[in-house]
Amino acid sequence: MSHQPTAGMQAIDPEYLSQPQTGPSRSEPIRNHSKSDPKKPHITDLPITRSNWYKHVNWLNVLFIIGLPIAGCVSAFWVPLRWQTAVWAVVYYFWTALGITAGYHRLWAHKSYSARSVLKLFLATVGGGAVEGSIRWWSRGHRAHHRYTDTTKDPYSVRKGLLYSHIGWMVMKQNPKRIGRSDASDLDQDPIVIWQHKHYLKVVFFMGLIFPSIVAGVGWGDWVGGYIYAGILRIFFVQQATFCVNSLAHWLGDQPFDDRNSPRDHVITALVTLGEGYHNFHHEFPSDYRNAIQWHQYDPTKWSIWLWSKLGLASNLKQFRANEIEKGRVQQLQKKLDQKRAKLDWGVPLEQLPVIEWDDYVEQAKNGRGLIAVAGVVHDVTDFINEHPGGKALIRSGLGKDATAMFNGGVYLHSNAAHNLLSTMRVGVIRGGGEVEIWKRAQHENKDSLSAKDDAGNPIIRAGNQVTKVHQPISTASAA
Ligand SMILES: [Zn+2]
Ligand SMILES: [Zn+2]
Repeated sequence: MSHQPTAGMQAIDPEYLSQPQTGPSRSEPIRNHSKSDPKKPHITDLPITRSNWYKHVNWLNVLFIIGLPIAGCVSAFWVPLRWQTAVWAVVYYFWTALGITAGYHRLWAHKSYSARSVLKLFLATVGGGAVEGSIRWWSRGHRAHHRYTDTTKDPYSVRKGLLYSHIGWMVMKQNPKRIGRSDASDLDQDPIVIWQHKHYLKVVFFMGLIFPSIVAGVGWGDWVGGYIYAGILRIFFVQQATFCVNSLAHWLGDQPFDDRNSPRDHVITALVTLGEGYHNFHHEFPSDYRNAIQWHQYDPTKWSIWLWSKLGLASNLKQFRANEIEKGRVQQLQKKLDQKRAKLDWGVPLEQLPVIEWDDYVEQAKNGRGLIAVAGVVHDVTDFINEHPGGKALIRSGLGKDATAMFNGGVYLHSNAAHNLLSTMRVGVIRGGGEVEIWKRAQHENKDSLSAKDDAGNPIIRAGNQVTKVHQPISTASAA
């Protein structure tokens, strides 16, 4: 029997709506192609017009994602919510959401831990109750999302809009040929994945609607309430919450590990998604069973996996080394620091300054220009003389001379800020200035701090390392 996915990415697995009894072939790789004539353009290649718009809509998904919850809301008007049913709906919400986050996502799509069959069976069934497609289909799309994040091959790229990444990609038809390829053949070795894929529709109806109704019905006689609240409306909330991983987690929050792509960390997204909101971390370290690494961050999916491991149900919990995580964090911090640094005035770079003869310098200062040489670098302080906190007289006494010793403690030990300010006034370098030679030597000996460059190749000057800072006052050029 042929096994061809129909329309690619859909919330409800299309293969089993069209061919409910077909089992996935174990050897055949998943092919993303349409059943329709390959020469005929796919509907998504045609512009949306008044006459064809309905062909662009994936009506089956509209029914499951939008139609069903509306029906649930309307029905809720006639069905009072009993407290037992409310508690059950919340509990079942967490189970089914865990099926997606701990099961579909961290166990199957990313293999971040191993689980015993009984746990797998639990996750596969409650995950089915979340009505988000089979494990096999979901994991394949999710792996493509990680592989092609933010590109046109990303099945739910946030670059196409927040609404698109949240729900649009399911409500509107997608061209399966445009979705990036990903390998999910390993999942075909897992009998529970195959079982769930094969019986997907049965799992959905039983776990999505029938089971929650039975619990409420047998438990406290609220069959209809169980159906409406723990079934239909709970499906709606679980779907919307988990869809936020594709939308909100790529839109809201910080990027502590890498800011080249859209994934972000935010506590609000984490609260909504059972801890999947630390998504910048997750895209950097997808095989880590944790999404949040700090103890105070909300990640109930991680806590559950950890608990299962203590109960002997889960094992091989994968973690990236703290050293690697910290490295990534520091690199991103450095990048942000470089961006901040680039916005500041650090003075003309030394190598771009004109070289001035000592005699020229003295001459110009004599002619009234407020030039002062410190450590072989000439500064024009004309406009600063009146503002000098140490008084005009002192700064004037250094004009036309080598003020290195004076500036570095001979008279007053200038602050780091003073050296910074001075650097913005530099206009030239004395030819053969011994001071500059000394600085160069120091730079050579102290490579790590003084010669460090930022992303743009500009030198990084740490506090107290300015060129004008000379620790031991040295013999002056003028004295030579
Ligand atoms: Zn993502
Ligand atoms: Zn992921």
